[in-house]
This record gives sequence, structure tokens and C-alpha cells, in this order.
Amino acid sequence: MRHISFSELKNWNKCAYYHKLVNLDKIKGFKGSEHTAFGTAIHEVYEKSVLGQIKSGDEQEIFEKSFISEIEKLICDGVELSEPLLQDMEKQGKKLSAKGVPALKEYFGHYNVFSAEEKLYEKIDDVEYLFKGYIDLVLKTNDGKYHIIDWKTTSWGWDARRRSDTMVTYQLTLYKHYFAKKHNIDPNKIETHFALAKRTASKDNIEIFRVSSGLRKTQNALKLLNKAIYNIQKGKHFKNRLSCNGCEFYKTKNCG
Ligand code: SF4
Repeated sequence: MRHISFSELKNWNKCAYYHKLVNLDKIKGFKGSEHTAFGTAIHEVYEKSVLGQIKSGDEQEIFEKSFISEIEKLICDGVELSEPLLQDMEKQGKKLSAKGVPALKEYFGHYNVFSAEEKLYEKIDDVEYLFKGYIDLVLKTNDGKYHIIDWKTTSWGWDARRRSDTMVTYQLTLYKHYFAKKHNIDPNKIETHFALAKRTASKDNIEIFRVSSGLRKTQNALKLLNKAIYNIQKGKHFKNRLSCNGCEFYKTKNCG
């Protein structure tokens, strides 16, 4: 059975033709950047820390190793990188690397780790498709609630528009829906949060905030998911010219 991930849905929502190029034709437009390398390294060190897989004090070393390995992959792919930015990121990442777990403790109090990097691969209603996703972290607190957390790396933080951007928050909404389905858990017992790891902020480098994912929002997110699948199946790949600004395929042989 075919599957669709949230990033695929995001691509389709930006432009159905962009989705076709990237996800169906597998044309690799964007190969990564300093920012994706940084994000991957921070995710790795936080995942290992929360699972107790690294000793306190070793976080910087784990971050550095992962960051260097990601940069090497980008160099192999021919991606041009900015040396000054990489140097800044190395320092910033080392500073951030030990802050993940203390921030979780401060925000959630006592918790148990339910899962980390949990795979979702759940049947979508009414279509022969699966929803695929990886949840960064699920914590269970003493009040019996489950907390779905997605780490995001950013420079100074997110403005109000980004925080309430429907498409950004649909990621957590869909994760909640399919996590509840997978484990047969009442959605009222599940809360969703973004955890921002801010590279350039002078203080409060980690900010965790709750995003509400109620019934209406879930229905809207599922409607969008089904609409995307319907159009993909029908081979309707319309170009959305409103999204061309900044698109890596703009004025290339793939999309004139
Ligand atoms: S250049 Fe515009 S139309 Fe072409 S794939 Fe990108 S967003 Fe879509």
C-alpha cells in the first residue's frame, strides 16, 4: 500500500506540481543545508539524552560528531556551505546540546518516556493509503496524559504567525490523530507541543509550547490529507504559481 508523510502533504499543499517533481519523480531539488545538518545533529543528541543513552557531559561530543557527519554528506552531494555559518553553528550547537532534557524536566515536571522517534504507519480512512511519520518524543506525565513533542531548530525563535500557521501545526494534529489510533488512546488524553531549540537567542534557548489539536482542527487536517491523496491518485498536478518565489525549480528545466 502507498504511503504519505506530513512533509509530502506539505509539499503538495505548497504546489501539486512541486510534489510531483520531488515525491513522485524523485527529483532531488533541495539536498540539505547547514540548517538541516544542524537540526539533525540536535535531534540526535536530544533523542539519545532523553533515552539515557549518553552520559551527562558527553552531549557536546555527540553533537559535534553528528554535525560533522551531516556536513560531510552535504559536501559529497555538492552542496555549497558557508564556513563562517558552520563555525557559528558548531559553537551554538555545543551550547544547546545539554539543554534539551533540563528544559523538558522544567516544563513537564516528572515524566516517563513513552517513546522516541516512534514510527507511525497507519491506514488512512476511505483510501488505500497509509500515513507515515516519526514522532520525535512522547512523554507520559503523572496525570495520565501523553505529550507528543516535535523538536524544531530555529535561529531566534518563531513569530506569532508561524506559531499559529495552520500548515505548521497540522503536523502535530495528524501525529496526534494517528498516534491515538495506533495505540487506541482517547485523544483527550493526548497533548501536542513544539519544542524550539534556538541557536542565536541570548537566553531561554529552549522554548516548549503547547499547540491545541481539537476535533475541528483534526477534521480539517484529515480533509486536506484526503484531498491531496485524491488529486495525487487522479494525476492532477497543478502548478501553483503563488509558490514559485524561492522554489528551487523556478525557471529550471523541470519547471519553466
Ligand atoms: S516553480 Fe512554481 S510551479 Fe514550479 S514546482 Fe516550484 S512552486 Fe510549483
